[in-house]
Amino acid sequence: MVKKTVGYVRLEWTCPRCGSKNPGPQKTCSSCGAAQPEDVKFEQPAQEKLVTDEEEIKRAKAGPDMHCPYCDARNPAGAETCTQCGGDLTDATARAAGQVLGAHRDKAAKDVPCPSCGAMNAATALKCSQCGASMAQPKPKPKPRVSKPAKGPSCGPVAYVAGAAAVALIALFIFLVTRTSDVIGIVESASWTRTIAIEALGPATHEDWRDQIPTDAVVGTCTEKVHHTQDEPAAGAKEVCGTPYTEDTGSGYGEVVQDCQYQVYADWCTFTVQEWQKTDEVTLSGADPNPRWPALQLSADQREGTHDEAYQIVFDTDGDTYTYQTSDSTEFSQYAIGSRWVLKVNKLNQLTSIEPAR
Ligand SMILES: [Zn+2]
Ligand SMILES: [Zn+2]
Ligand SMILES: [Zn+2]
Repeated sequence: MVKKTVGYVRLEWTCPRCGSKNPGPQKTCSSCGAAQPEDVKFEQPAQEKLVTDEEEIKRAKAGPDMHCPYCDARNPAGAETCTQCGGDLTDATARAAGQVLGAHRDKAAKDVPCPSCGAMNAATALKCSQCGASMAQPKPKPKPRVSKPAKGPSCGPVAYVAGAAAVALIALFIFLVTRTSDVIGIVESASWTRTIAIEALGPATHEDWRDQIPTDAVVGTCTEKVHHTQDEPAAGAKEVCGTPYTEDTGSGYGEVVQDCQYQVYADWCTFTVQEWQKTDEVTLSGADPNPRWPALQLSADQREGTHDEAYQIVFDTDGDTYTYQTSDSTEFSQYAIGSRWVLKVNKLNQLTSIEPAR
């Protein structure tokens, strides 16, 4: 993130002695003359206007004001002696700076009533235009906290019964699937299917960033897309900034800033390359114990692709048949027609495993 300065605005402070609102740059109260103490913070006005005066901007940038170690009066950054008591400011403490005060208030604020006489005044007014009283609003009293009693999870009898029923159903399902009984089965038939894919070189279209495209590819259409977002500015990158907000500079002015990031664009393109692709397949099948691969007649621009094999064995039991499928040719060779096996059958009548009959 890059923090960018939008500009500077005048803040406010409220005199703790007489309650008057004062412009931030003013170091003593305009009503009672008291100096702003170190613990009285700057606040955002109801509406913030960017300062245009060069001298004011210079003062806003000068750094946080300092408080005199003898009389606590506010003095500008860099001052050597106190404007109020003349004391040496070598050991003066600078005001805190950099605190985020809130979102930049650039919208026009609604008029507010004077807390003394009720007359409507501009939200930014420091004093009532009618009675001259301070427009500082009385601080709202902190509301007593009402803590709600914590509620435990509701666990009524209905939920309990529903939960118990679900558990019972799961237990029943596990029982039906895992509990098996032994059945003697005789191999009735055994069949096999073997398939070889035939591949040929052909054009295939893909998409990628331009710098990722293979050198032998034919590039199609390209569009600019956001490749990534980064914190540092870069040539051609699009700046994306967040909502402006105001930070206390400690000088009575606020710095309006924005956090920005940079979207870097790159070409996203379609491209075509020559790739081996499945164009055909040859299948051979049989019902004998000797599975074979189909013979291939390949032309010069073709090659052999993936090999697939599937075997199916049908067991006959007393009155039932069970079909078993595998892709393992060694296992298939064991199931000679007429051989006897112990079939494990679960309560859902599914064949789960096969063992040799003893
Ligand atoms: Zn005052
Ligand atoms: Zn002083
Ligand atoms: Zn008033």
